[in-house]
Amino acid sequence: MYRVAICGRPNVGKSTLFNRMTGSRRAIVGDEPGITRDRIIEVAEWGDRQFEVIDTGGILPEEKDLIPEKILEQASLAFGDADLLLLVVDLRAGMTPLDESLNALLRGTGKPYAVVANKADVEKLEDDALEFHALGVEQVFPVSAEHGRGIGDLLDWVVEKVPRQQAEEEPEEEIRVAIIGRPNVGKSSLLNRLVGEERVIVTDLPGTTRDAVDTRVEQQGQRYRIIDTAGIRRKGKTHEMAEKLSVVMARKSMVRSDVVLLVIDAVEGATKLDATIAGYAFEAGKSVIIVVNKWDLIDKDAHTLVSKEADFRRRLRFLDFAPMIFVSALSGQRVSKILNLVREAYQARYIRVPTAELNKLMEKVMKPHLASSGSSRKFPLKYGTQAGVAPPTFVLFTRGGKPLHFSTQRFFINQLRQAFGFYAAPIRLLERRSKPSKAARKR
Ligand code: GDP
Repeated sequence: MYRVAICGRPNVGKSTLFNRMTGSRRAIVGDEPGITRDRIIEVAEWGDRQFEVIDTGGILPEEKDLIPEKILEQASLAFGDADLLLLVVDLRAGMTPLDESLNALLRGTGKPYAVVANKADVEKLEDDALEFHALGVEQVFPVSAEHGRGIGDLLDWVVEKVPRQQAEEEPEEEIRVAIIGRPNVGKSSLLNRLVGEERVIVTDLPGTTRDAVDTRVEQQGQRYRIIDTAGIRRKGKTHEMAEKLSVVMARKSMVRSDVVLLVIDAVEGATKLDATIAGYAFEAGKSVIIVVNKWDLIDKDAHTLVSKEADFRRRLRFLDFAPMIFVSALSGQRVSKILNLVREAYQARYIRVPTAELNKLMEKVMKPHLASSGSSRKFPLKYGTQAGVAPPTFVLFTRGGKPLHFSTQRFFINQLRQAFGFYAAPIRLLERRSKPSKAARKR
């Protein structure tokens, strides 16, 4: 999908703009109530186009006194994958040296970009944006991310650049895999095993930033790119540092991946941090395979596997769609199966369900389901269509009525999974209570 990255120095309003462009609210998720977590990738829709927006501010912790080099590094993290860049500046603060450095960095990428002069809350402030034309960019958009002023013009400009026929909607030849998880669960051991397997060809490739190195692996004619393998091997000095680093790494490498291997420790089970990382993977729309490592350390009887799986899943509730495999990086047990599962997961991301088939399923299971719960009148379902792949995205059109209940959404998603085999993929379900767009009707 076409990708737009939002860059800028701290506190210029990147996440507010992100939320405004994607229409997302800060989601309250996690084990304790009141935990807010920022999303960093989200699908935006404008007119009949869809694109992905990345908030680069969410990738590394944003601190007021972050040194400029760090900010530049943070911004450049997302460059490699973005198709279009937005440089957010604070029009009330005026131009700062850091804005100029970021501008130079963005220009250097050769990608289309614009300056978004934020905090133009009232019309008369818009003139202050003129100053930023000195940066020599094609477009400067005065906006107020907070109040929504000027956002329409910005989105109009963005979608002009989004190709109608998205070439990336076809599977690519190389499958990008991220190995993520807490410190010491065995990520590097697993990586070594994966690349140490016979019949695997390995090459190191430069990643998007100076210190990121990807490893290419080939198995049975399929190429895989394991994202940021330098990062997997990097260890924090203290436990706390190592944990922080593992979260940063997870978010960073996930952005660039198709399939995520979430590694958890068989002895320790799934922890809160695993659950947090799982939530990121789900939100980012990545396919996920849960790899339970150190299986050699577990005393096993006939029931161990089932009871362990249930135990691990209790914490990872965002990941009910993710298959689980039990391995030992140490002995190599089942490690050779992993890449085959990755391939299967990758292919499932691109399954397309014809609209007719989808509506047959809705007739067969959704209508009776709604009727049996006595809610069919409250949710006058018209029809559904698959709006996108990778992750599979479905739109249900209703004639007014209330939004579907969470449990009904889940029910339908499970039906879709069973009927069409979306292995390891998070399925997105959107509801439209207005008239469908022309593009959707044509499909
Ligand atoms: P990372 O921080 O996630 O990259 O973890 P490492 O790969 O560095 O592994 C942490 C520790 O766990 C090391 O001492 C490994 O030898 C050990 N380890 C990794 N995988 C296994 C496994 O499958 N079984 C056992 N018993 N130990 C493992």
